[in-house]
Amino acid sequence: MQIQIPRQVDYIIGKLKRHGYEAYAVGGCVRDTLLGRTPGDWDITTSARPAQVKALFRRTIDTGIQHGTVTVLVDHVGYEVTTYRIDGEYEDGRHPKQVQFTSDLLEDLRRRDFTINAMAYSPESGIVDAFDGAGDLERRVIRCVGDPTERFTEDALRILRAIRFSAQLDFTIDPATCEAIRTIAPNLAKVSKERIQAELTKTLLSDHPEKIKEVYETGISEYISPAFARIPWEKIRIPAELPAIKYLRWAAFLRLVPPEDAVRVLKDLKMDNETITHVRTLTSWSGKPMEENEISVRRAMSQMNPQIWDALIELNQYGENIRSLTAQIRERGDCLTLRQLAVTGQDLIAAGVKPGREIGEILSKMLDAVLEDPSRNHKNILMDFYDTSQ
Ligand code: ATP
Ligand code: MG
Repeated sequence: MQIQIPRQVDYIIGKLKRHGYEAYAVGGCVRDTLLGRTPGDWDITTSARPAQVKALFRRTIDTGIQHGTVTVLVDHVGYEVTTYRIDGEYEDGRHPKQVQFTSDLLEDLRRRDFTINAMAYSPESGIVDAFDGAGDLERRVIRCVGDPTERFTEDALRILRAIRFSAQLDFTIDPATCEAIRTIAPNLAKVSKERIQAELTKTLLSDHPEKIKEVYETGISEYISPAFARIPWEKIRIPAELPAIKYLRWAAFLRLVPPEDAVRVLKDLKMDNETITHVRTLTSWSGKPMEENEISVRRAMSQMNPQIWDALIELNQYGENIRSLTAQIRERGDCLTLRQLAVTGQDLIAAGVKPGREIGEILSKMLDAVLEDPSRNHKNILMDFYDTSQ
């Protein structure tokens, strides 16, 4: 069976072959192509050693020489070319102690996590599928290569990869693989929080974000973090129509708990600060009804940056009226922030106000007045307003 591969991948495989090596496209790109999806990247596996790969191509990057990976640049795009390898003994439930190069493609495929990720392809040989990955694609099943308990014991991150792929592809997890997930779940304690977070994020950003529930159903949530385990997961509702934006999908998941608990979960997972800030804002506004008038909408908009307001509209499913009020407010350029206010702290000082806390308080009152009625945003009007309120 022939599949369509990019010209650059064909070139890399062809060149390795002409020099006497074996070479195949492998893993996610073969899986995605067979599914009719566009692969994110194309990985190549070869019998050539890293030094031999480097000798053949003009532009290469030493991506992970000790693991056998060299990135070959063709037309400014990188392709990871990795030498056939067997992963040595796993010492910490995560990293192989050493990798061993091999000349046998099958050994390289055997070390891979799931049958659907363990297929290789070359134009000459067609699909190499030693573990019935194609059958599992047909049945829409995630299944470990070999004994699932052993495979999760070697590397517990695979547990979350299984759930992540099931969400991305809308596949089920094979019963034996699922059983092994339950058994080996405690090993997740050895996996770095950043890597756990990355897999959970991919799950939430997928077409089936609600599959995050499988983390609870398979009994692994307590090994992710105590705060994570406390989320009332049966109530999770993350509509797939919700735009695939990291902070928005996390907020949709975490809106079931108070904002402080949401922040706790994200901190436990070593989430970046920007995402934490946005999720805190979104969860604290989640579920709030919004009065359908200009003033309420301006007040809310003044509390967050525009992109977060847009996210909140989606999260709370605000209707057409709120959306069109938002568009009008933006079109007119209504003042929403202190920076847009026609009066500055300098103006107040010039008018005789003592520098200090009072300045901020006055400006904030002026902003309130302008949010109520944007036509008040003129220096003379606001200064009069201030004088008469003294
Ligand atoms: P994606 O679309 O997310 O890139 P992918 O299948 O390409 O999916 P990668 O993480 O890029 O996934 O890994 C490339 C290949 O390497 C996988 O298809 C799989 O064969 C193998 N692999 C990756 N991580 C592991 C792991 N933890 N254990 C075993 N094999 C793995
Ligand atoms: Mg990949």
